[in-house]
Amino acid sequence: MKPLAANIFAIKRYALHDGPNIRTTIFFKGCPLACWWCHNPEGIDFHSKVLFLAEKCVGCGECVGHCPEKALGLTSKGVFRDDDKCTSCATCVQICPALAHEATGRSMSIAEIITEIKKELPFFDQSGGGITCSGGEPLSQPESLLALLQACGKLGIHRAVDTSGFAPVETLLEVARHCELFLYDVKHMDSPTHERFTGVANDLILANLKALGDDGHAIRVRIPLIVGVNDDGKNIHATGAFIADCKGVQGIDILPYHPSAIAKYRKLGEIYKGASLTVPTKAHLAGVAEILKKYVVDVNIGG
Ligand code: SF4
Ligand code: SF4
Repeated sequence: MKPLAANIFAIKRYALHDGPNIRTTIFFKGCPLACWWCHNPEGIDFHSKVLFLAEKCVGCGECVGHCPEKALGLTSKGVFRDDDKCTSCATCVQICPALAHEATGRSMSIAEIITEIKKELPFFDQSGGGITCSGGEPLSQPESLLALLQACGKLGIHRAVDTSGFAPVETLLEVARHCELFLYDVKHMDSPTHERFTGVANDLILANLKALGDDGHAIRVRIPLIVGVNDDGKNIHATGAFIADCKGVQGIDILPYHPSAIAKYRKLGEIYKGASLTVPTKAHLAGVAEILKKYVVDVNIGG
């Protein structure tokens, strides 16, 4: 039987903003949302692609002969790729010495991921850190996520899950039995506005947050703060009041919008919807934090 695998687009070591202390963050590929400000656009598509970064190519021709689909050719102008023939097999990714072919995700067995995680055990032990499963949306690969969390549990590693909350409640509560902390996004209290900027309504997300608390799990709520989207007083008060009414919430992290992902969108050949969005000032962030503190004691700016 084939070992259980997860589709992963990155593993980040020494992560300091993905939960308590020093962590290793495992990014699961694929997300049912498509937020305008998403800073991991390579994590949205459930299918992996291979990008060709022509500016990195040194023209050695190595990849051309190895492509099993004969999708690559070399001319005096450099390498070209016939996208109709390319099956994203990633052979060229392995071959290219210049890293000019890049995969947006790859299948990793749970054992492979655990091998990577084990390298960081000394840092977890010293700092009290652990792993954070993020994405994309980790709950969209429930079997793989559960297997990874269970394997980490056996090793005594602290486990956090960073989620949009958009998943069947049964999946969420099953995953909750195998992790110590949720990092849970709340983006907007008005459902049509939420749908406009993320692609989905908010009713399932809000109901799941309540269900998670009612079931006795620990949660830190994360609010990505975007000027003109969710930063107005009415929405911030409504958000604070809703969170105050949820059990299990230990605190709120306000994550200021920043446009640093724009280069990733260019690389993927995708339109960055966030180009019109504005970064909040320090004073504005402090004002939002003051409002939220009326509802929840522990409010932090940043991850
Ligand atoms: S192997 Fe890499 S550097 Fe060489 S031709 Fe292919 S893309 Fe260019
Ligand atoms: S991903 Fe596979 S099929 Fe596509 S160009 Fe590279 S080697 Fe060829």
